[in-house]
Amino acid sequence: MTTQTAIFRIDGVTKSYGGVKALDSVTLEAGVNEYLSLLGPSGSGKTTLLRVIAGFEVPDSGRVFFQGRDITNLPAHERGIGFVFQNFALFPHLTVRQNIAFGMANGAVPVSAQETAQRTQAMIDMVGLTGMEDRGVDQISGGQRQRVALARTLVMQPKLVLLDEPLGALDANLRGRMRNELRAIRERMGVTFLHVTGSETEALAMGDSVVVLDRGRIIQRGAPDDVYSTPASPDVAHFLNRFNLFDGTLVDGKFTGAFGTVASPKATRAPRDVYAIRYDRLRVMPVSTAAKGPALKATYIANEYLGSSVMNFFEAADGKVVEVEHHLSLGAPETYEPRQDYLLTWAADQAIVFGREGK
Ligand code: ADP
Ligand code: MG
Repeated sequence: MTTQTAIFRIDGVTKSYGGVKALDSVTLEAGVNEYLSLLGPSGSGKTTLLRVIAGFEVPDSGRVFFQGRDITNLPAHERGIGFVFQNFALFPHLTVRQNIAFGMANGAVPVSAQETAQRTQAMIDMVGLTGMEDRGVDQISGGQRQRVALARTLVMQPKLVLLDEPLGALDANLRGRMRNELRAIRERMGVTFLHVTGSETEALAMGDSVVVLDRGRIIQRGAPDDVYSTPASPDVAHFLNRFNLFDGTLVDGKFTGAFGTVASPKATRAPRDVYAIRYDRLRVMPVSTAAKGPALKATYIANEYLGSSVMNFFEAADGKVVEVEHHLSLGAPETYEPRQDYLLTWAADQAIVFGREGK
């Protein structure tokens, strides 16, 4: 993507607080009308990255571009970039309508009273708050407050909206519904979203593209499917929370771990030797099965229903918990006997192997 078609671009941005490098030479851009998810553990620099783009922080080094223009030193209120804060940050003494209209009534660019009223009402309808206009923001639910926060930002007609864990404060049920709404609203408005989340499920479900941040560095960027099926490093595989990760040693193209020694000709270069197999790629066999490929004896502990799948938990001899996921779309789940031993197997070519001798 060239800088012309990118809506924003940050180039080699570093930002430290005291001795902590919150951002370490981060380069990132997003296209017009793109939904970018930014995934990373707590403390990885996600909020700092948004604050640099929004103009609440000035980077120590590197540049920030928006719509082709260098805005590194432009004050936040002159950038025209929307920000939805983690805790919503609504004005508690104002009504829904007043919260949404606030930016137009008090912004850098004057908007007539008539246009303010018209845009506010259109946005109230767009986010589904019709009928709630005159309530105080302490008289509506968490999900509705989330919509006010979104409406208040979108009514300013930004071309780029930064969202800092916007669904983090909602309960699981509501979070699922708001995910769909966020996507739908973004598509209707045609704006670029940079959505920060600590949830791998949210990142994979929502973004056209997923960026993984770790300790102030981007460690992978790709389509959700690609990141999910080919994590670039053991750390990404770990954050995705979809892989059993086994320690072991990769020597001469063979990985040796608790499950035996397996030919691993396509290992990816990494600073440590790790064998990753997706939760839904394991098969559970009777313990007496004579397996040809990788096989791990493990004791069944318990299961957990997750809606569209069942997660089965096993414990290997070394105490490691191994997860086996059964998608309910494939049929009813098997039942296993607690404290019984089983053999967990998988096709060797389904694994992702990392190691110091990888390519
Ligand atoms: P995230 O949003 O991914 O949880 P942050 O961007 O908030 O991460 O923080 C990244 C790192 O920078 C953390 O180590 C955090 O403690 C530190 N940090 C962030 N903001 C400040 C600040 N204002 N003062 C000092 N340290 C900060
Ligand atoms: Mg944060």
